[in-house]
Amino acid sequence: MSAVPATAFADEYRRFVAQLPGKVRSRYHPEYASWHRQASWNGRHFSRYPELIVHAATVDDIVATVKFAAQRQHRVSVRAGGHSYAGCFLQDNGILLDISALREIEVDPQRAVARIGPGVTGRQLTNALLPHGLAFPTGHGGDVGLSGFLLGGGLGINSTAWGPMSVFNIIGVDVVMADGSVRHASADAHPDLFWAARGGGPGLFFVVTGFYLRCHALPRAISNHIYGLPARALPQLIDAIDGHDWDPRLQIMLGMGRPQGENDPHALVLNVLAFGDSAADADAMQAALAKRLPPSLFTVLAALPQVSFEDIYRQSEAMLVSKNYRTDNVFTDRPQDAADILASHLPAMPAVAGMTLMIWRGRQALPDAAYSVSGRCFISTYLQWNEDADDERNRQWLARVYDRLAPLSTGSYVNEFDLEGRQARIARCYSAQSWERLQRLRRQYDAHAVFHALEGPGR
Ligand SMILES: Cc1cc2nc3c(=O)[nH]c(=O)nc-3n(C[C@H](O)[C@H](O)[C@H](O)COP(=O)(O)OP(=O)(O)OC[C@H]3O[C@@H](n4cnc5c(N)ncnc54)[C@H](O)[C@@H]3O)c2cc1C
Repeated sequence: MSAVPATAFADEYRRFVAQLPGKVRSRYHPEYASWHRQASWNGRHFSRYPELIVHAATVDDIVATVKFAAQRQHRVSVRAGGHSYAGCFLQDNGILLDISALREIEVDPQRAVARIGPGVTGRQLTNALLPHGLAFPTGHGGDVGLSGFLLGGGLGINSTAWGPMSVFNIIGVDVVMADGSVRHASADAHPDLFWAARGGGPGLFFVVTGFYLRCHALPRAISNHIYGLPARALPQLIDAIDGHDWDPRLQIMLGMGRPQGENDPHALVLNVLAFGDSAADADAMQAALAKRLPPSLFTVLAALPQVSFEDIYRQSEAMLVSKNYRTDNVFTDRPQDAADILASHLPAMPAVAGMTLMIWRGRQALPDAAYSVSGRCFISTYLQWNEDADDERNRQWLARVYDRLAPLSTGSYVNEFDLEGRQARIARCYSAQSWERLQRLRRQYDAHAVFHALEGPGR
């Protein structure tokens, strides 16, 4: 790949910049540093520097950028909502193509289908659907971009019932290919591209400029019960939850932090959302769960009969306290064994604001798509810390825990995978067949590697 500055005054470059007035910054532009910093969702600094940053406002801008990159042999990485934990859109050299300004939302209430631009967030879509009595399984943070969230799979609100991953609600995509051509892909048109868009994850070989999404009737009653339990209740609790086939509309999430002493009554926080057709329906789901909790070991911290998507967003956003952030995860069918490992490591967790979540997913049959991992239980750790000096301690602790969990894993979720520490293992986020097909399609559709790929040699 050649670098831009050497050819910065070449005719092609001047023509390109003239085509997109005010939308291109090279590394030598005084505004480059602020554009670079603003790319990350929480202002975290990443020491990877593209030669050019392009803020596209239209599909034509995207086409022009991709064509310029293809001619000049620059590599393109795409940024939509900017919420990648690892900042994977920031790569050295090449072009950062920021498409977050494409934020249009069109709702067809009759068909319960929405078309959204790639810059739309979960909160924006929810607000646009509400007047029509519709909803979509967005991420739990309201400002998380739907684009990267969906392309990676999407563990969304009520997605066990509406999915089983949010990505399976994509019924079509508009895309810009590596040669700058524009296509629409669905089950009937360009099915290879449609297959890849449904879970191909970060580093795809095309840009999605529009998603067509199947939406759902907004549940009439969404209740939220929260319980606190001491760490010693963990084996009983896992037994109670894991040994039951739950209604998929019950979202069961167990949060584990660093215990504050042996008798900390809230070392475990069980957060249960029920998406019911009526208050009685939601109550029945909650009661079925409460009945199985280890008697005399739990305290009810909250029993909210009705919450909104906005309440769920705020609950999740209240957990964001630091700019330094690192995550890793596994799916597993052996939550009890995984819990033993977690229990032995959590007391030494370096990040005060760190948390591990276990989310019950049930048994899932996945449609054929690039998204191809599952497991009864999803386990993900979110570490947050303030001092850069603590980076290494957190990195090492997370790597130790997930090395121990790896033998129990049935795969990992790419959007919460430690792409900074374990990119070489990215293939674990796909079935062997899907990973092989993705690489084949990439070679076919992006033979000259216009798009930056997140590659890894092995599982
Ligand atoms: C606070 C927070 C809360 C989160 N909560 C959840 C959650 O509840 N559930 C969940 O599943 N995940 C969650 N995530 C993870 C989230 O799904 C990923 O970070 C996802 O990448 C966010 O999408 P984005 O558009 O903001 O991504 P970006 O950071 O903009 O993009 C990530 C990568 O995806 C690719 N990409 C994105 N859009 C396009 C496009 N249109 N065309 C081609 N390639 C594209 C690019 O390779 C890009 O580098 C959360 C993340 C954060 C930071």
